[in-house]
Amino acid sequence: MENKLLEGTKILIVEDDSSSKLYLNKILEKTGVKLLNADNGKEAVDIALENPDIDIVLMDLQLPVMDGYTSAKKIREFRNNIIIIAQTAYGLFGDQKKIMESGFNDFIIKPIYSQNLIDKLVANLNKKHPVY
Ligand SMILES: [Mg+2]
Repeated sequence: MENKLLEGTKILIVEDDSSSKLYLNKILEKTGVKLLNADNGKEAVDIALENPDIDIVLMDLQLPVMDGYTSAKKIREFRNNIIIIAQTAYGLFGDQKKIMESGFNDFIIKPIYSQNLIDKLVANLNKKHPVY
């Protein structure tokens, strides 16, 4: 799978489940992105503070130490232009509302399929830097 549109993009994956984490890394490794990983919401905030060049955060919601909603809110406080995408197992309207209120730009519903994920990332990058 090749996707030059993502090449060089710096992505922070926040996922506590090791098999899901491995799966997301495997999908994204093929696209030429630079990957960082966090196991919980607190670690995600710390990594985002240390790496101001992160373009996208792919955030699980159910996380130990600090959940994804809180983590996204905190990252949004110091990075107003970062793209934060929630990974959610729940497609219900109430959760979508809470996701958007927490500072996320978008969400992707689990199970995550590789082409869906890549399309979602490209769409959000294009929204930020429209190509006319
Ligand atoms: Mg989780």
